[in-house]
Amino acid sequence: MNNNTVTMADQKTIAIVAHDNKKQDLLAWAKFNREALAGHHLIATGTTGKLLTTELDLPVTRLQSGPLGGDQQIGAKISEGEIDVLIFFWDPLEPHPHDPDVKALLRIAVVWNIPIACNRASADFLISSSLMPTPYERLVPDYEGHRNRLLRLDVA
Ligand code: PGA
Repeated sequence: MNNNTVTMADQKTIAIVAHDNKKQDLLAWAKFNREALAGHHLIATGTTGKLLTTELDLPVTRLQSGPLGGDQQIGAKISEGEIDVLIFFWDPLEPHPHDPDVKALLRIAVVWNIPIACNRASADFLISSSLMPTPYERLVPDYEGHRNRLLRLDVA
């Protein structure tokens, strides 16, 4: 499959989600990296966003709470090209009512080749990358073949 490129600006839109058992970890990470985060646009699921706004004193666009559709909203925004980076501290030790949404969000981020960090160490590497504050040409598979796959059906 060929690739297209999507230009990610120097200011990235970073989507942030943390499950309840991971919120403390996320907040500690975000406070430590406040300066780096301040250079980007932040968007988060409801409760995560509320905590980030309070702790960081930075503007954070808040979506629905995750179990109420927030993860799906982020997935939709990824497929619409509105999100550059996903920081998703999901909890590997507890089942959640919205586990299908979690899987869907991770899947759609891979479909669009979005950088993802799912734990604190990966988030450290991602936020400190020299690519974060500079424009970046992200490769995205050319899905035209997929879009056109049923257009040659013989309809009686
Ligand atoms: P929350 O959602 O930020 O509203 O807690 C996170 C999630 O559980 O997906």
